Order: sequence, then structure tokens, then C-alpha cells
Amino acid sequence: MSEQERQDVVQKLNDGYPLMALKSIVAFPHNRQALPIAREKTIRAIEEAMMQPEHILVAATQRSIEIDDPQPKDIYGTGTLIEVVTMHRQQDGTLQVLIRGINRVTIDEYVDHEPFIRAHVSDLAEPQTTGAQADALVRHTTSLFERYAQLNRRFSVEDINSIVALKTPPLLSDTLAAHVVTDMAQQQDLLETLDPMDRLEKICVIMGNEIEILELETTIRSRVRSQVDRSQKEFYLREQLRAIQEELGMETSSESDELRAKLNQKHLPTEAELKVRKEIDRLERTPSQSAELSVMRSYIDWVLALPWNERNEETFNIESARHILDQDHYGLEGIKERILEFLAVRELRIQVAQRNGNTKQISQGQILCLIGPPGVGKTSLGQSIAKALNRKFARISLGGVHDEAEIRGHRRTYVGALPGRIIQSMKTVGVRNPVFLLDEIDKLSSEYRGDPAAALLEVLDPQQNSNFTDHYLELPFDLSEVFFICTGNIKYQIPRPLADRMDIVDLPGYMLEEKVNIGTKHLIPKVLQEHGLTSEQLRIPQTVVQRVVIEYTREAGVRNLERQLASICRKAARRVLEKPNTHIRLTTHNLEQYLGAPRYTNAPPLMRTQIGAAIGLAWTEMGGILLPVEVVTMSGKGELLLTGQLGDVMRESVIAALSYIRTRTDELDIDPGFQDNYDLHIHLPEGGIPKDGPSAGITIATALVSALTRRPVRTDMAMTGEVTLLGSVLAIGGLKEKVLAAQQANIHTLIIPTANQKDLQDIPAKIRQQIHFTLVDNLDQVIEAALLPAPVEASSENNNTHISAPEQSAAAQEQGRHIHPPTSQQTEMEHESDPQKFFIPPPDPTTNKFFPSAHTKEDDHDIG
Ligand code: ADP
Repeated sequence: MSEQERQDVVQKLNDGYPLMALKSIVAFPHNRQALPIAREKTIRAIEEAMMQPEHILVAATQRSIEIDDPQPKDIYGTGTLIEVVTMHRQQDGTLQVLIRGINRVTIDEYVDHEPFIRAHVSDLAEPQTTGAQADALVRHTTSLFERYAQLNRRFSVEDINSIVALKTPPLLSDTLAAHVVTDMAQQQDLLETLDPMDRLEKICVIMGNEIEILELETTIRSRVRSQVDRSQKEFYLREQLRAIQEELGMETSSESDELRAKLNQKHLPTEAELKVRKEIDRLERTPSQSAELSVMRSYIDWVLALPWNERNEETFNIESARHILDQDHYGLEGIKERILEFLAVRELRIQVAQRNGNTKQISQGQILCLIGPPGVGKTSLGQSIAKALNRKFARISLGGVHDEAEIRGHRRTYVGALPGRIIQSMKTVGVRNPVFLLDEIDKLSSEYRGDPAAALLEVLDPQQNSNFTDHYLELPFDLSEVFFICTGNIKYQIPRPLADRMDIVDLPGYMLEEKVNIGTKHLIPKVLQEHGLTSEQLRIPQTVVQRVVIEYTREAGVRNLERQLASICRKAARRVLEKPNTHIRLTTHNLEQYLGAPRYTNAPPLMRTQIGAAIGLAWTEMGGILLPVEVVTMSGKGELLLTGQLGDVMRESVIAALSYIRTRTDELDIDPGFQDNYDLHIHLPEGGIPKDGPSAGITIATALVSALTRRPVRTDMAMTGEVTLLGSVLAIGGLKEKVLAAQQANIHTLIIPTANQKDLQDIPAKIRQQIHFTLVDNLDQVIEAALLPAPVEASSENNNTHISAPEQSAAAQEQGRHIHPPTSQQTEMEHESDPQKFFIPPPDPTTNKFFPSAHTKEDDHDIG
């Protein structure tokens, strides 16, 4: 609408314009606004205006929005002449109109009030605004607006661009008044301000304030957010994570929180703590169905269960240590002295280290190693040492350990991986400074699966063991405060590098008197207590203990004795329950009711002289034993048959003895062509037990000569010695144990190599008095001492035929009763053995008829 047209309209409507009262908004010139119209009077006013060609009416704002039917006094005196651009009638009768402001008017007079308000208005003219000042103000206002829009984010880019494009103060001021100013009173004030420059200034002040507030808000908001970030981000994220996990059906239990709490209490070394924390985080993120979950869980449990800081306070007093050792063990005087010396040296080293300000526990130095047959008290000495040091006691057996992983654990990538035995025991014992017994150190074997001895060396080496790393844990664990003690049966089987680190103490077997004393003073009180019996309810006098030792056990230690006593207690316990108030007194007469028939007789093994049977002595890790050798000749063609699980060394002894005999047929009065007429069968009972070692040499030779000459062997004597091809007798090992075995079997004459004479001083004087030792250098002396002259009738038999089988089997039965039952290792080997392998096929008759086939199998038998 042009200015002229507008003038016309104003003129034409001098009888008054319809007026719409606006609630809470102000209509500004140059601006379009969409309005919903619901009030009846306003609808009427608009309808009236729409009936006019120009669609013009006055819009004025009412002073209070609460008034529904405003009177003139309720409406501001300044309003805006507006044009209704479009009008839509809604279904509910209300209107939706788009209005456009034309210019400011002042209401001069209200002419009508019903059915709608009608008023006379007059135009309000604005001062002209041009020039640099106006431009500068426009520019300033625009930039303020841009800043405001940026902070406020209420305007679209198009809105901002179209507002910034307004370059005149009237347009810019009214547009900003309509769109930026939100307070109705301020809007009305701006409507009433006629000078556009004044309006812009006012708007600049309003926008300036707004900007300040918005900026403040932004800083506050970001400050608040960063605080939230710092203090609550973790919590917030965790909550979110938990929610997500719940949605996905993952494990969300507070298990990880519990583990974290436990971890916080444990005070692990930093490396371990970081690792476990990482594992717990990983556990938390892992779905509950994952197979890995249990692996992770058990790893964390393992690490948390280890005694990283727990320890017992060590107390050591040499006198009380002696007292404890004496209290727990009968005899063993020399051994106890050695142990006390060892402990004293250790204590002094600790004191020196502490004086020098070395607060860290000093290393153990040498490792104590107790060597001896089973049941001689190695383990219980270890326990007493722990008691004397006020430490806890842990024990593992290394018997049969051939995989390094058993010491050092499997990596976690293996299915079912676990830490090694060292770490397992540390967990069980629960302190980081126990006395730790490594049993059967001599049974370690090294195979393709790593070298367990090397791993053990790391465990025992004070330079390395403070950082012992188990494959499963993948963390260093400090073993430097552990007091290691090793035990074993055979000294020379301990891996060399380990043996070098050790202070080896030998425990030989006990003699009869010692066993009886140990039984009476220590084992009986112990087994009575274990079976809930008192010494009044069951009395086992010393004479009975002696009988048990002699007739029911054959051992170097007292383990079987303890077992037999326990079995007496079991029977007694039953009788006591059946007949309360029973007082059982064991006698040598009623002993059989409790233990059955005796297993061993105290009589010499063979009362009759024997042809082709001699008694040898062997050393085993269980102690000494009798080793009978039997030889029969059978008509044949020079075949040599060896049975009884002979190892390589022993088979070679047989061949050496045989060769020696063949070179001495004249001196020995043997038919030089015996190999053309006879087969030889050599048997060492008990056939199920593997046997090896050179010390049976003279026994085999004696039995062979006896069989071939028909001269009987003295059965009241036993022998031991290695034989060479030329008939020399060489020294053997384990003399003391062999002598004890002979004593137990009531044999009083022993043939031993002269080279072993020096070892006789280790034999208790009492036994030396009981036994006659025949010292020999060569086989002739042996034969001289051991063989009786051939009976007249026997020698004629010798010329044509062989020994009868029933005679041999009687000898075998008699002697077999004196052999120890096999050790577990021996029993295992029994299944592997093939009796056929000892069958040596007949050699070429044109050459050496008794030359056996080469045998390459490596035997690891333990009798020597
Ligand atoms: P090892 O470890 O040498 O095989 P143990 O220590 O297990 O033998 O001993 C077996 C049993 O014999 C234990 O009950 C032990 O207390 C007891 N024992 C062995 N020697 C003695 C001793 N000298 N005095 C008291 N008891 C002994």
C-alpha cells in the first residue's frame, strides 16, 4: 500500500477503526506476525476490517493479560495500524490471522465498545534518520545482534541474514523490537518511542544485558559441566555402561566392585595391582555368556588369594630349637647338631645384616637338603624346623615332575591353566615366609617339556627368587623370605646345579634298637592319639614293638612300623567300643590276633646249603635289601637266559662273570666244553622288580660257579662287590644300608670288597661286633670263602646232567620272602617290561656260544 492510499484509508475511516486488543504481544510496524484469535470481540473487529477493501484495523496491547474484556483504560494509548494479510477460520470458530504492521498510531478516542471496539486514531510521525551516526548505530546494533544470536541460538541462519540486511534504523529497530525483545513492557516502551535512533539505543542496551547474561550462563554451564566431568564422569559412564549391559543381558553384578574393594584392601605391589585392576575392568566388559569369564575370574581370585604381604613373625632361639628337635625326634644326634648349626649360621647372618641396616630379609644362603630312605624322619624334621622358627609349613613332592610347567605354571592361554605347584602352595599356606619342603628332589626328571630342574634352580636361587615369575600369574612373586628345605632318597640323582647349592645331610636307616625306641616313645603316643585311644586302654610294651619291627617290617625307616601300630590301634578301637572299660595289653603272644601271621622270619634265609643259589646285597632308595641269585644248568646248546628284570649294567656283570669263568675252567674244575652241552638260566627273584647295578657281580659269579661245579654255596653269608673281566673285585656303594639289611635278616657273615674297608667305620660298633666281614680283592677269594666242597654224589651228577627244578623253586620261594615290595616307580616299570627281552637267543655255535645279543635299551633301575 502506497503512502497515498494509506492516507486515504485513514481519512476514510475517520468514523473510527475497529480495534483488536492484544494479549502479551505488541504489534510493530514493518513486521508480520501470525496470531490466533479467539475472543469474540476481536473476531468481530477483524471481520469488520475484512469487509473493508483495505483490511485495516488498529492493534493495541492491553496492560494486563488477565483481563478478558478490556476497557479503554486497560489498553495502552499507543498502538499500530495493521493490515490483515490472511485470515483462516478454524473449525472451532477461532481465527488464524497473519497481520502486517503499517505504522504507529495514538488512540485519540474510543467511539464504540460493542459489538467490537472502535476508536479514532491519529498517525504518529517518526523523525528522519540518516547519516553517519545512524549508520554507525545500525552497524553496532547489527554486530550486537549477531553476537546475541550466536549465544541465544534461537534464530535460524536465514533469520539472522535477513535481519542483518536491514540497514535503516526504523526497520531495524522495529524488527529487533518484535523479535529480540521479549518483555512486553519493554516492547510497548519501544512502540511508544518515536525516534528510531532512540529505539536502537534502547535495543542495544537490552541486547547488551542479554548478551552479558547469556555469556554468564554459558560460563556457568561449562563450569558446571566440567565439574560434572571431573567428579562424576566415571560414575556417569559406569551407570551408562551398566544400563547398556543390562539391556544386552551382560553380567552387571557388583562382583567387579567387590573385587575392586578386595583389591584395595590387599595392598598389592604396584605391578600386580595395575594388572588386576585391568583384569577387573576387562571382566566387567565381558558378556556373561563368554567362556573367558571364568578364566578371568579365577585369575583374579588367584592373584588376590596370594600372600603378598602376610607373614609370620619369626622367632629363633637356639635352645628352644634344640628342645623342639629333641622333643619330636628320637636319636639322630648328628643330624640334629647339623640342623642346629645350619640354623645358627643363618641366624647370625640375619643379625649381621640387620646391624648393617639391611632391613630387607636376607637371603637364605645354602639350602638344607635331607637325604635318606623313606620314613627316617626327613619330613618331620622339616616340620620341627618350622616349629622352631615359628613359621608355617608347606610341602610339595617333586616325584615324577618332568614338566617345567608343574613348577612354573601354564600360560593362561592353555585350557585349564593353573599356577605351578610353588605358587599353589604359597596360596594354601597363606604367608610369604613359610618353611617350604621340596620332597623327592632326586626324582625330578628333565624331558622335552622344559627343564623343571632349571625352574627349581630359579626358585632356590636367592639372586633370582625375589622375582619368581609364574607363567600363569605373569607377575613376579617374592620367594626370598621362604625357607626352603629339600629332601630326597638318592644323593647322586639330584640335578647337579641344584646339588651345588645345597648343604646335604645324610640320614641313614635306623637300627633295631632305634626303631624300637622311636616306636615306643614317639609313634605309639602319636597313633594312640590319632585313634582316640589312651595308654590305659591300649598298652603296647617294648617287646611287642620289637617283634613288630622284626617280624612285620623290613625297612630303613619307621613308616611301616607306624602303619602296623596304626593297624593295631584300629582293631583295638573297635574292641574298646564293643566292650567299654576294656584295657588291652598287647603281648608277643596275642600280637598275631592284631596283625595276622608274621611276614618275615628272623631265621637265616636258607638253612640248607644250595647249589647255584647265592645271596647278594643290594642298595635301594628304600634302604638295603637281600638280593638272591639263582642259576640252573639245563642240557642244551649254550643258550643264556636272563630273567628277573636285569638292567644293562647287571647283564654286563653276568657276561663278565661268565667270561671270567670260561677263562678259568681249569682252576675251577669246570668242563671247558660246558657250553656245548648246557643252557644256562640266571634268575634274580623277585622277577617283578627291576634290578640294576654292578654290585651283584660277585654274587652272580658265585652262583654260576656253584651251578657249574655243583659245589654248594654257604647260605649263612651274603655278599656284595663288582667283578671285572679279570676277576678283580671293586668297591660298591651303600655299604651301611646293606649291612643293616643283613643284620635284619640274621646273616652274620658278609663278603665285601677290600676297597670298602674304609666304610666300615660308619657301621655302628655294636653291629660290627655281631657281623663277620670277609674282605676280598678277587673272585677266587670269593669262591674260596663262599663255596663248600662238592658232595661226592653231587659231583657225579654234575658230570652228566643239571639241577632239578623243584630244588630251585624251593630256594626261590624261601628267598623271595625277604625282598621289599616294589616302590611305586618300580611298580610302574613292571608293566612296561617284557619278559621276552631278557631272552638271549643262542649265539653262533662256531664262535662264542654265550655271547649275548647287543641290548640297547636304557634302563633306569634302581638297585645297585
Ligand atoms: P620321610 O620324610 O623321611 O619319609 P617322615 O618324616 O614322614 O619320613 O617320617 C615318618 C614317620 O616316622 C613320622 O611320623 C615321623 O614323625 C616318624 N619318625 C621318623 N624318624 C623319627 C625319629 N627319629 N623320632 C621320632 N619319630 C620319627
